Amino acid sequence: MRQAKAIALYSGGLDSTLAILQMMKYGVEVEAITFMTHFGCDATDSSSCGSDPFPAAQKFGFKVKLAHLGQKFIDIVKNPRFGHGKNMNPCIDCRLTMIGEVKHYLDMIGGDFVITGEVLGQRPMSQRRFTLDLVARECGLDGRLVRPLSGRLLPPTLPEKEGLISREWLLDIQGRSRKRQMQLAREFGLTTYPSPASGCLLTDKRYSDRLRDLLRFKPDTDFNDLNLLRVGRHFRLGPEAKLVVGRDQNENNIIESLQLEKDILLEAVDFKSPVGLFRGEATPGKMDQAASIVARYSDGNGQPVVSVSHRTFANSGILETSPATDLLLQEVRI
Ligand code: SF4
Repeated sequence: MRQAKAIALYSGGLDSTLAILQMMKYGVEVEAITFMTHFGCDATDSSSCGSDPFPAAQKFGFKVKLAHLGQKFIDIVKNPRFGHGKNMNPCIDCRLTMIGEVKHYLDMIGGDFVITGEVLGQRPMSQRRFTLDLVARECGLDGRLVRPLSGRLLPPTLPEKEGLISREWLLDIQGRSRKRQMQLAREFGLTTYPSPASGCLLTDKRYSDRLRDLLRFKPDTDFNDLNLLRVGRHFRLGPEAKLVVGRDQNENNIIESLQLEKDILLEAVDFKSPVGLFRGEATPGKMDQAASIVARYSDGNGQPVVSVSHRTFANSGILETSPATDLLLQEVRI
């Protein structure tokens, strides 16, 4: 039996690490690819489902490559072939896209098969038996997709049929419990791993509401809009007008860094204040609403009148306003 070479779809989480280690245990050479998107699952963002893929790779000696799906993934989120999950998460299309990208690399380097850390029955949408079969069928790998953690419960794959790997190397883990994975981690000496995450930002209801709103009013949305969507409180002031207000200093800094030429930054002058970013058609009425919302979240809330500064790259000024009412917030909050 010659040494097999596999490419792993790798999130840095427990399951995909174990899938790699299980194959390496039997001498399979494994290289891993970690994908990033604008919706979390991002190795650099601790609030997302993505985990740092490098510590385990260094400890156990496999290579990791990072790849960003960029616009391709945004187009999929807008219009997934297999639909969205409970929120805006297009999990089936997401798996297919990532595996499709890995396939290109596999073909390029002459690898034998792709592995994933999928576990039968672990997640409601993406890891049901029907879905695992569908992904295996549609991913274009023609039987070369191996799931080491649940493989014994699934139909034999091409590498098994060709004798490149043995069915005995595969495990029969299924369901939501992580007990067997934790046991396996102990056996491999994998002592630190992230606790299970529920998914990327697209599985979050509030984030999905904001994203739907953005796509509705700005279908040609760009990376800056998407980055802005990750921070602050969001308010829809009109089809062409939106306000984002920071919730802490870190968000204020991010919001300021995302200001574009026509955007207007707002801040209460005499009080501790969040930064608000107004994007869109700045009519006097909309600007007054925006200023009143920023005043509402400043320490000037409760004052009859609050001065709010507004500035673009080119000019600046002051607006006098009263803090927004609950009713206004209710009406415009996304
Ligand atoms: S939760 Fe679904 S859409 Fe999000 S990264 Fe995971 S598989 Fe993809």
